[in-house]
Amino acid sequence: MWTYQHKNFKVHQIPALNDNYIYLIEDCHADTVLVVDPALASLVIEACAQLHLKPTHIINTHHHWDHTDGNKELVQTYNCEVIANQDDAARIPCLSHPIPADSSFVLGNLRIQSINVPGHTLGHIAYVIDDALFCGDTLFGGGCGRLFEGTHAQMWESLQKLAALPDATRFYCAHEYTLPNLRFARDMDADNPVLKQRIKDDTQTRMKQQPTIPSSIGLEKKTNPFLRPLDAAFIQAYNQTNQTQFNALETFTDLRQRKNKW
Ligand code: ZN
Ligand code: FE
Repeated sequence: MWTYQHKNFKVHQIPALNDNYIYLIEDCHADTVLVVDPALASLVIEACAQLHLKPTHIINTHHHWDHTDGNKELVQTYNCEVIANQDDAARIPCLSHPIPADSSFVLGNLRIQSINVPGHTLGHIAYVIDDALFCGDTLFGGGCGRLFEGTHAQMWESLQKLAALPDATRFYCAHEYTLPNLRFARDMDADNPVLKQRIKDDTQTRMKQQPTIPSSIGLEKKTNPFLRPLDAAFIQAYNQTNQTQFNALETFTDLRQRKNKW
Protein backbone atom coordinates (compact mmCIF):
# COMPACT_ATOMS: atom_id res chain seq x y z
CA MET A 1 0.00 0.00 0.00
CA TRP A 2 1.18 3.54 -0.84
CA THR A 3 -0.08 6.85 0.54
CA TYR A 4 -0.15 10.26 -1.13
CA GLN A 5 -0.80 13.48 0.74
CA HIS A 6 -3.04 16.14 -0.81
CA LYS A 7 -3.95 19.41 0.86
CA ASN A 8 -7.14 18.22 2.58
CA PHE A 9 -7.01 14.46 2.17
CA LYS A 10 -4.79 11.43 1.78
CA VAL A 11 -5.03 8.83 -0.95
CA HIS A 12 -4.12 5.25 -0.04
CA GLN A 13 -3.39 3.02 -3.03
CA ILE A 14 -4.07 -0.70 -2.69
CA PRO A 15 -2.89 -3.08 -5.44
CA ALA A 16 -5.51 -5.76 -6.16
CA LEU A 17 -5.98 -8.75 -8.48
CA ASN A 18 -3.37 -8.78 -11.27
CA ASP A 19 -3.06 -5.09 -12.04
CA ASN A 20 -5.97 -3.21 -10.41
CA TYR A 21 -5.66 -0.35 -7.94
CA ILE A 22 -8.27 0.35 -5.29
CA TYR A 23 -8.08 3.77 -3.62
CA LEU A 24 -9.06 4.93 -0.15
CA ILE A 25 -9.59 8.67 0.20
CA GLU A 26 -9.19 9.83 3.78
CA ASP A 27 -10.62 13.24 4.62
CA CYS A 28 -8.12 14.93 6.96
CA HIS A 29 -10.76 17.11 8.68
CA ALA A 30 -13.76 14.78 8.96
CA ASP A 31 -14.62 11.10 9.32
CA THR A 32 -15.32 10.74 5.62
CA VAL A 33 -13.52 7.80 4.01
CA LEU A 34 -14.23 6.97 0.38
CA VAL A 35 -13.44 3.71 -1.37
CA VAL A 36 -12.92 4.09 -5.12
CA ASP A 37 -13.75 1.05 -7.28
CA PRO A 38 -13.38 -1.84 -4.81
CA ALA A 39 -12.40 -4.83 -6.95
CA LEU A 40 -12.25 -6.96 -3.83
CA ALA A 41 -13.66 -6.33 -0.33
CA SER A 42 -11.11 -8.33 1.69
CA LEU A 43 -8.15 -6.13 0.70
CA VAL A 44 -10.08 -2.98 1.62
CA ILE A 45 -11.09 -4.42 4.98
CA GLU A 46 -7.48 -5.38 5.69
CA ALA A 47 -6.15 -1.94 4.73
CA CYS A 48 -8.83 -0.15 6.76
CA ALA A 49 -8.03 -2.22 9.86
CA GLN A 50 -4.37 -1.32 9.47
CA LEU A 51 -5.12 2.40 9.00
CA HIS A 52 -7.94 2.51 11.58
CA LEU A 53 -10.40 3.78 8.99
CA LYS A 54 -14.08 3.07 8.50
CA PRO A 55 -15.36 3.62 4.97
CA THR A 56 -18.39 5.92 4.77
CA HIS A 57 -18.90 5.79 1.00
CA ILE A 58 -17.99 3.78 -2.07
CA ILE A 59 -17.69 5.70 -5.34
CA ASN A 60 -17.75 3.62 -8.53
CA THR A 61 -16.51 4.90 -11.89
CA HIS A 62 -18.31 2.21 -13.93
CA HIS A 63 -20.08 -1.10 -13.61
CA HIS A 64 -17.36 -3.62 -14.59
CA TRP A 65 -16.90 -6.40 -12.02
CA ASP A 66 -13.26 -5.49 -11.29
CA HIS A 67 -14.53 -2.11 -10.04
CA THR A 68 -17.67 -3.15 -8.17
CA ASP A 69 -17.27 -6.72 -6.87
CA GLY A 70 -16.40 -5.48 -3.38
CA ASN A 71 -19.49 -3.27 -3.04
CA LYS A 72 -21.79 -5.81 -1.39
CA GLU A 73 -19.41 -7.06 1.28
CA LEU A 74 -18.22 -3.55 2.12
CA VAL A 75 -21.81 -2.34 2.55
CA GLN A 76 -22.50 -5.33 4.81
CA THR A 77 -19.32 -4.69 6.81
CA TYR A 78 -19.41 -0.89 7.17
CA ASN A 79 -23.00 0.03 6.30
CA CYS A 80 -21.50 2.57 3.86
CA GLU A 81 -23.30 4.37 1.03
CA VAL A 82 -22.70 3.60 -2.64
CA ILE A 83 -22.45 6.48 -5.11
CA ALA A 84 -22.44 5.98 -8.89
CA ASN A 85 -23.94 7.24 -12.13
CA GLN A 86 -27.75 7.14 -12.05
CA ASP A 87 -27.71 5.87 -15.65
CA ASP A 88 -26.01 2.71 -14.40
CA ALA A 89 -28.50 2.13 -11.56
CA ALA A 90 -29.33 -1.35 -12.86
CA ARG A 91 -25.67 -2.37 -13.16
CA ILE A 92 -24.04 -1.11 -9.92
CA PRO A 93 -24.44 -3.50 -6.95
CA CYS A 94 -25.99 -1.92 -3.82
CA LEU A 95 -26.21 1.56 -5.36
CA SER A 96 -27.78 3.84 -2.73
CA HIS A 97 -26.96 7.34 -4.06
CA PRO A 98 -27.43 7.59 -7.82
CA ILE A 99 -26.00 10.88 -9.15
CA PRO A 100 -26.22 12.63 -12.53
CA ALA A 101 -23.12 11.92 -14.65
CA ASP A 102 -22.05 15.57 -14.41
CA SER A 103 -22.59 16.69 -10.85
CA SER A 104 -21.01 18.24 -7.81
CA PHE A 105 -21.54 17.24 -4.19
CA VAL A 106 -19.93 17.57 -0.79
CA LEU A 107 -19.00 14.73 1.58
CA GLY A 108 -17.46 15.83 4.86
CA ASN A 109 -14.95 18.48 3.83
CA LEU A 110 -14.47 17.12 0.34
CA ARG A 111 -16.07 18.76 -2.69
CA ILE A 112 -16.42 16.11 -5.35
CA GLN A 113 -17.11 16.74 -9.00
CA SER A 114 -18.19 13.97 -11.34
CA ILE A 115 -17.51 14.18 -15.05
CA ASN A 116 -19.37 12.26 -17.74
CA VAL A 117 -16.73 10.30 -19.69
CA PRO A 118 -18.49 7.71 -21.89
CA GLY A 119 -16.40 5.46 -24.11
CA HIS A 120 -15.02 2.46 -22.21
CA THR A 121 -18.64 2.02 -21.04
CA LEU A 122 -21.56 4.36 -21.69
CA GLY A 123 -22.09 5.11 -18.00
CA HIS A 124 -18.44 5.73 -17.12
CA ILE A 125 -17.81 8.78 -14.92
CA ALA A 126 -14.64 10.25 -13.42
CA TYR A 127 -14.34 12.02 -10.06
CA VAL A 128 -12.30 15.14 -9.34
CA ILE A 129 -11.42 16.20 -5.79
CA ASP A 130 -9.21 19.31 -5.70
CA ASP A 131 -6.10 18.35 -7.68
CA ALA A 132 -6.83 14.60 -7.76
CA LEU A 133 -8.61 12.77 -10.58
CA PHE A 134 -10.04 9.27 -10.25
CA CYS A 135 -10.71 8.14 -13.79
CA GLY A 136 -11.27 4.37 -13.63
CA ASP A 137 -10.65 2.81 -17.05
CA THR A 138 -10.87 5.97 -19.18
CA LEU A 139 -7.34 7.42 -19.04
CA PHE A 140 -4.40 5.16 -18.16
CA GLY A 141 -0.71 5.88 -17.76
CA GLY A 142 0.38 6.09 -21.41
CA GLY A 143 -2.94 4.73 -22.65
CA CYS A 144 -6.72 4.75 -22.55
CA GLY A 145 -9.48 2.22 -21.96
CA ARG A 146 -10.84 -0.09 -24.62
CA LEU A 147 -14.11 0.88 -26.23
CA PHE A 148 -16.59 -1.70 -25.01
CA GLU A 149 -19.75 0.39 -25.36
CA GLY A 150 -19.01 3.90 -26.63
CA THR A 151 -17.85 5.31 -29.96
CA HIS A 152 -14.43 6.68 -30.78
CA ALA A 153 -15.95 10.17 -30.95
CA GLN A 154 -17.36 9.78 -27.42
CA MET A 155 -14.05 8.55 -26.02
CA TRP A 156 -12.09 11.30 -27.74
CA GLU A 157 -14.44 13.90 -26.27
CA SER A 158 -14.14 12.30 -22.83
CA LEU A 159 -10.33 12.28 -22.97
CA GLN A 160 -10.32 15.94 -23.98
CA LYS A 161 -12.36 16.78 -20.87
CA LEU A 162 -9.72 15.10 -18.69
CA ALA A 163 -6.87 16.73 -20.64
CA ALA A 164 -8.47 20.13 -19.94
CA LEU A 165 -7.82 19.74 -16.19
CA PRO A 166 -4.75 21.60 -14.86
CA ASP A 167 -1.41 20.01 -15.79
CA ALA A 168 -0.55 19.45 -12.12
CA THR A 169 -3.65 17.27 -11.61
CA ARG A 170 -2.55 13.90 -10.27
CA PHE A 171 -4.52 11.11 -11.79
CA TYR A 172 -5.32 7.83 -10.16
CA CYS A 173 -6.51 5.27 -12.70
CA ALA A 174 -7.69 1.77 -11.92
CA HIS A 175 -4.97 -0.33 -13.58
CA GLU A 176 -1.18 -0.53 -13.74
CA TYR A 177 -0.84 -0.81 -17.53
CA THR A 178 1.75 1.92 -18.00
CA LEU A 179 4.81 0.00 -19.24
CA PRO A 180 3.06 -2.05 -21.94
CA ASN A 181 1.20 1.12 -22.95
CA LEU A 182 4.48 3.01 -23.29
CA ARG A 183 5.94 0.34 -25.55
CA PHE A 184 3.07 1.01 -27.97
CA ALA A 185 3.57 4.76 -27.49
CA ARG A 186 7.24 4.43 -28.46
CA ASP A 187 6.25 2.77 -31.75
CA MET A 188 3.83 5.60 -32.56
CA ASP A 189 5.88 8.56 -31.34
CA ALA A 190 9.51 7.47 -31.66
CA ASP A 191 11.15 10.92 -31.68
CA ASN A 192 9.47 12.25 -28.53
CA PRO A 193 12.23 13.03 -25.97
CA VAL A 194 9.78 13.36 -23.05
CA LEU A 195 8.42 9.92 -23.87
CA LYS A 196 11.92 8.43 -23.99
CA GLN A 197 12.69 9.85 -20.56
CA ARG A 198 9.36 8.61 -19.20
CA ILE A 199 10.05 5.07 -20.42
CA LYS A 200 13.37 5.15 -18.53
CA ASP A 201 11.79 6.55 -15.37
CA ASP A 202 8.77 4.22 -15.33
CA THR A 203 10.89 1.16 -16.12
CA GLN A 204 13.06 1.98 -13.07
CA THR A 205 9.94 2.48 -10.96
CA ARG A 206 8.53 -0.91 -11.92
CA MET A 207 11.88 -2.61 -11.34
CA LYS A 208 11.64 -1.34 -7.76
CA GLN A 209 8.09 -2.76 -7.66
CA GLN A 210 6.62 0.71 -7.18
CA PRO A 211 3.48 2.00 -8.93
CA THR A 212 3.78 4.37 -11.91
CA ILE A 213 0.39 5.75 -10.85
CA PRO A 214 -0.46 8.50 -9.98
CA SER A 215 0.81 10.25 -13.06
CA SER A 216 -0.04 13.84 -13.97
CA ILE A 217 -2.24 15.31 -16.68
CA GLY A 218 0.73 17.41 -17.84
CA LEU A 219 2.92 14.33 -18.39
CA GLU A 220 0.12 12.45 -20.14
CA LYS A 221 -0.48 15.30 -22.56
CA LYS A 222 3.19 15.12 -23.58
CA THR A 223 3.55 11.33 -23.75
CA ASN A 224 0.21 9.50 -23.97
CA PRO A 225 -0.44 8.62 -27.63
CA PHE A 226 -4.18 8.94 -27.07
CA LEU A 227 -3.78 12.58 -25.98
CA ARG A 228 -1.05 13.43 -28.49
CA PRO A 229 -3.63 14.27 -31.21
CA LEU A 230 -4.26 17.45 -29.17
CA ASP A 231 -0.97 18.67 -30.64
CA ALA A 232 -1.24 19.76 -34.30
CA ALA A 233 2.46 18.99 -34.87
CA PHE A 234 1.88 15.39 -33.78
CA ILE A 235 -1.03 14.99 -36.22
CA GLN A 236 1.07 16.43 -39.00
CA ALA A 237 3.93 14.02 -38.34
CA TYR A 238 1.50 11.10 -38.01
CA ASN A 239 -0.11 11.95 -41.35
CA GLN A 240 3.27 12.24 -42.99
CA THR A 241 4.41 8.83 -41.71
CA ASN A 242 1.17 7.11 -42.66
CA GLN A 243 0.37 8.99 -45.88
CA THR A 244 -2.98 10.05 -44.46
CA GLN A 245 -4.92 13.27 -43.94
CA PHE A 246 -6.46 12.63 -40.57
CA ASN A 247 -7.92 15.25 -38.25
CA ALA A 248 -7.59 14.86 -34.46
CA LEU A 249 -10.53 12.46 -34.02
CA GLU A 250 -9.42 10.34 -36.98
CA THR A 251 -5.88 10.19 -35.62
CA PHE A 252 -7.19 9.11 -32.21
CA THR A 253 -9.44 6.50 -33.87
CA ASP A 254 -6.58 5.12 -35.95
CA LEU A 255 -4.34 4.88 -32.87
CA ARG A 256 -7.02 3.14 -30.80
CA GLN A 257 -7.68 0.63 -33.59
CA ARG A 258 -3.96 -0.07 -34.02
CA LYS A 259 -3.54 -0.61 -30.31
CA ASN A 260 -6.28 -3.27 -30.38
CA LYS A 261 -4.24 -5.28 -32.90
CA TRP A 262 -0.79 -4.38 -31.59
ZN1 ZN B 1 -13.57 -1.50 -17.02
FE1 FE C 1 -11.06 -2.34 -15.13
